[in-house]
Amino acid sequence: MSDTIQKYKDYVMTGFVKLVAPIVIDRASGASVWDSSGREYLDCFSGISVVNAGHNNPRVIAAAKAQMEKLIHCCSYLYHVEPVADLAEKIAQVAPRGLTKTFFGNGGAEAIEGAMKLARLYTGKHEFIALHGSFHGRTWGTLSITGNQGRKKRGGPYAPGVSFAPSPYPYRSLWPNDPEECGRQCAKALDEVIRFSTSGDIAAFIAEPVLGEGGILVPPKNYFREVKKVLDQHGILFIADEVQTGFGRTGKMFAIEHYGVEPDILVTAKGIADGFPLSAFTTRPEIAAAYRPGDHLSTFGGNPVSCAAALANIQFLHEENLPTRAAESGQYAMQKLREIQKQNPLIGEVRGLGLMIGVELVRDEKLSPANTEAEAVRDALLRQGVLVGVGGVYGNVVRFQPPLIITREQIDRAVDAFAAALAAITQPAPV
Ligand code: PLP
Repeated sequence: MSDTIQKYKDYVMTGFVKLVAPIVIDRASGASVWDSSGREYLDCFSGISVVNAGHNNPRVIAAAKAQMEKLIHCCSYLYHVEPVADLAEKIAQVAPRGLTKTFFGNGGAEAIEGAMKLARLYTGKHEFIALHGSFHGRTWGTLSITGNQGRKKRGGPYAPGVSFAPSPYPYRSLWPNDPEECGRQCAKALDEVIRFSTSGDIAAFIAEPVLGEGGILVPPKNYFREVKKVLDQHGILFIADEVQTGFGRTGKMFAIEHYGVEPDILVTAKGIADGFPLSAFTTRPEIAAAYRPGDHLSTFGGNPVSCAAALANIQFLHEENLPTRAAESGQYAMQKLREIQKQNPLIGEVRGLGLMIGVELVRDEKLSPANTEAEAVRDALLRQGVLVGVGGVYGNVVRFQPPLIITREQIDRAVDAFAAALAAITQPAPV
C-alpha cells in the first residue's frame, strides 16, 4: 500500500465517505489528472464541478502566483485590497441584472449561510422554503434547508422554520411526458406549501437552478417563471444557489439565465476560481444595505490570491467562450449517451444542461433505483481511467461534469468507456 494511502488510514478522517478511491492524485492539467504511478485519468467530475477552466489553468496560476508574491492575506474586510475590488466589479458585470454587491467567503455552505442571514435581516422575516432533493451544504444551517435525508441523517433535529416544496423532477412525476405541466404543478405546490405549512413569515425561497447532488434535475423551462409569480405574490425573496451551476457549467454564465428570471441573491462558489477556495453571494444594493456593523465577516473570505485567480478564471471563461462550448459539448455528449440508452434498459434517463449531465440508472419499468449498479459503473470507469461522480436522492445517477475545456475526442473516450463499463456490469456471470 502506498505511503499516502496508509497515512490517510491512520491520520485523515474519512469515515463519512463509503470509500476514498484507491488512487493517489499527484498532478493535473486540463481535463486530465495523473496518479502517483504516472497513470493518466480523464477527469469527468472536475473535483465536484469546480475546475471549469481546466485543471492548473496557466492563466489562473500566473494570476495567483503574481498576487502571492505581493500579498496573501491581511483580511479583506478590515482593509481595501485591489483584487477583491476588481473581482466584485467583474461579478457585478456578469451577474444577473441588478445584482451588484458581493460578499466573499471561502466555501459554498458559508456563502449560503450568509445569504440566509442577509435575507432575514432585509425582510425582517424568518422562515425559508427549499426543495425536495436539494443540497445546500454541510453546516447545520445549510443542512436544515437541504431536502435529502441521505445527507441529513444523524444530524437532526434541524432548524425550525424550514418548509419543503416538491422539486420538478419530470422523470419521476405524474407527468413524465409533459415537463411543463410538471413545472406548473410544482409551482402550484409551492404556493400550497406557503399557505398550509408556514406561518407566512417567510424570508426566502432557495433553490438550485439545476439540482446537482439531487441527481442533475433540470427543472422544466416554465418552472422558475411560475415560481417567481408565486414568490412575488407573497413578497418572498428568491435565493439562487449557483454553487454548482455557476460560471459556465450549464451553457450560460449562470444557470438561472436559462429561465428568464432574476434572483434577489445569487450564491456562487466551486467554479468561481478554478480550484482556489472562494465563494460569494451577490445581491442588489438595497438588500446589501441591511447589514449593520457587527452583522457579518469572514477572516479568510475574499482571500486576495483566490480573488486574483477568480478574475483570471472569469476572463478565461469569457475569452474562450466556455459557456457556449459547454452548451455544445453537452449536446454532443448527451446525444451519444442517448444512443447507448437505446441498447441498454438500465439507463432510465439521460438529462442535463451544458456539461452538467446525469444518467439515471433503473432496474425495471417501476424505475427501481439501480444504485449499486451506478457505483459499479463508477468503479469500472475508474479502472478504465475515467473519473465520474455518483449522486441523486436514490444514489443511482452517474454524473458527468468535466472541465468545460474538454475536447470532442475526450468526450468520445469517456462515453466509450461508459458503454464498456455498463456492458461489464450487466454481463451475466460466467457459469
Ligand atoms: N450548494 C450546492 C448546490 C452544492 O452543490 C454544494 C456542494 O456540493 C454546496 C452548496 C456546498 O458547498 P461547499 O462544499 O463548498 O460548502
